[in-house]
Amino acid sequence: MRVVFVLLILLSSAVCAHTDFYAHMDIPGLFARDALVEEIKKVDCTLSEGRKTQCWMIVVKAEPKHKMGPWCPRNIVDPITAAGMMFIERQLVPTDGPFVQNAATFFSDPKWSLYDPKTGAVKVTDSKAACEMAARPDVAPQYNNYCVECQASYMGPDFHTRYLIPVQPSKAKTEQRPDPFSGYGVAFNGVKFDISAPVGAILAAHTLAPVDACGGHVNPHVGYHYHAALGCSQAYPSAASHAAIVGVAIDGYLIYARENADGREPSDLDECRGHEFADLGYHYHANLAAENDILHCLKGQRGCALPGKQSQCDFSRRGPPGRR
Ligand SMILES: [Zn+2]
Ligand SMILES: [Zn+2]
Repeated sequence: MRVVFVLLILLSSAVCAHTDFYAHMDIPGLFARDALVEEIKKVDCTLSEGRKTQCWMIVVKAEPKHKMGPWCPRNIVDPITAAGMMFIERQLVPTDGPFVQNAATFFSDPKWSLYDPKTGAVKVTDSKAACEMAARPDVAPQYNNYCVECQASYMGPDFHTRYLIPVQPSKAKTEQRPDPFSGYGVAFNGVKFDISAPVGAILAAHTLAPVDACGGHVNPHVGYHYHAALGCSQAYPSAASHAAIVGVAIDGYLIYARENADGREPSDLDECRGHEFADLGYHYHANLAAENDILHCLKGQRGCALPGKQSQCDFSRRGPPGRR
């Protein structure tokens, strides 16, 4: 049903100039109903370069419907099925028990000791307080040499994320870096497509902060979020042979899967990983998961994710400290 619907929209857009693509795109219809706290509606908003326009206000729940985790192994004998993975040197490296056991060798650094040598038990953060102290760039000293794992339940039942995303995207005049709180955008299951995980800071504190098989984990500021697009959310076919649509960026342009039907990514992507293609208008293609950066930048004037009760984007704020 959804597929037919999207195809019809794409068909109708084919008779318009491609710049009109987004005027015909029913973004609310692409979101999973069970991810939404309330109906998506249009509200007035001001974008990052001051353009006053209309935005979709999208309020999503803290947790996706798919399984989250596992992240940290509990013992050095735990197999890959009981662990997640880390972005290390452009690889997604499984953080299973043997990895933890061999971390000092792997990193050529004898300071790595994440487990009890007598029992093999891995040191894992096991409370909200521990998660908050360990999941920040200046890791609390007592949480050096920990595997950091935060649970979505720490966010509480009332934690929601509200996005303001332009209905009609427009190119920005200046370079648009994503703000750390808003991330790059949102998948259609309501999960944030976040900016890169700060792996350097994580490893420097001799901590691990694994992501699960969906590229996601929890931090105490934004809840569950993705650092890679691994196909765990709704995806919609687009034009013949082009990649599937997997989410919407914070500037309103759509995010497509990395690969087209031929298994390759488009060859004409710009520095933000976007391009204009046929009647699909400007859009992005998600990056290779191992590269820990779903996009590289944004081309359009940005909306935002709204913290707390704030009703409009504040582009002077830099996001909370300690993002992971
Ligand atoms: Zn494309
Ligand atoms: Zn993270």
